[in-house]
Amino acid sequence: MQKQRIEQLQQWLMEEEINTAIITSSENVFYFSNFFSDPHERLLAIVFTQKNDPFLICPLMEVEQAKQGGFPYTIIGYRDTENPWEIVTKEVQKRTDRLERIAVEKTHMNIERYEILLAAFPNAKFIAAEEKLQQLRLIKDEKELEYLRKAAELADFAIQVGIHELKEGITELEIIAAIEYEMKKKGVENMSFPTTVLFGSNAASPHGNPGLTKLKKGDFVLFDLGVIYKGYASDITRTIAFGEVDEEKQQIYEIVRKAQEAAVRLSKPGVTCAELDRTARNIIEEAGYGEYFTHRLGHGLGISIHEFPSINELNPLPLQKGMVFTIEPGIYIPDKIGVRIEDDVYISDDGSEVLTKFTKQLQMIS
Ligand code: MN
Ligand code: MN
Repeated sequence: MQKQRIEQLQQWLMEEEINTAIITSSENVFYFSNFFSDPHERLLAIVFTQKNDPFLICPLMEVEQAKQGGFPYTIIGYRDTENPWEIVTKEVQKRTDRLERIAVEKTHMNIERYEILLAAFPNAKFIAAEEKLQQLRLIKDEKELEYLRKAAELADFAIQVGIHELKEGITELEIIAAIEYEMKKKGVENMSFPTTVLFGSNAASPHGNPGLTKLKKGDFVLFDLGVIYKGYASDITRTIAFGEVDEEKQQIYEIVRKAQEAAVRLSKPGVTCAELDRTARNIIEEAGYGEYFTHRLGHGLGISIHEFPSINELNPLPLQKGMVFTIEPGIYIPDKIGVRIEDDVYISDDGSEVLTKFTKQLQMIS
């Protein structure tokens, strides 16, 4: 699988007459090597040339882990006392004699690294690799789908755990601790982002920070969470009523649910990202809450929690089989209420499969 991905990248290098590609983001290194590492300030890279085998370079202490990932080519470990860029330069020169066009992830490069490369390859022109990498990662294969399904299943379970913990006076952070404790017991090493649990008006900020707020009857509780399973992320949001919630809250919930379900139903090959966003947004606008839906409908999901494509009202990209993304409309009235419902959706041959399966019927927990 990794070999095929590497060949596809080399094919692109040939088509674009790029001499070498130096890929440094943890996510893209993982995509080609099945080895995930956050090297902090140290260098981690896979370096490609058109015809010769690529190589992976990482800190010496991580070489064994990198091997376990199964990268089928040379893995070079460097010591903290060595300059890894000198090794990269030397190895690239062994593999190709022309060094005029170098692909890098421009959004991941910093000025320090850019200056190092420029000093090593003074005649080089730098090409952005992002678009090609996004394209490759956009369509998920069977194995990736299997991992995404499992990650979603674990996220469903985490919502169930969170709901089970609800009781008067408990804090947002206590619920988060309970959820993550149960997930660890299930073997989940990492959540895909900091787990979010927000009570009442705290949920009115789409990216609110959980704290010591105590739960009271009549509150909505917003859960937004996900897990990493074998390198792949899930992302689910559910909004639950604790005790009886008033009429207005129930109405807002039903508007969001209607918008979310309409976009899910429309999801199939050929429909554009813009159409999906528009479908959900129209429902919320017609109900009079348009100004309170302040973000795009969703985002691609895979190795990264946010990846290509962006599901927004300007994106003309048609959906294709193999894409996985979120659908997550919300209504946020400042200082008052926040409701969001989010599922992970896979595009199949002729329709879609919703990977997150937790019910969207309004749950009133007493
Ligand atoms: Mn989310
Ligand atoms: Mn999301």
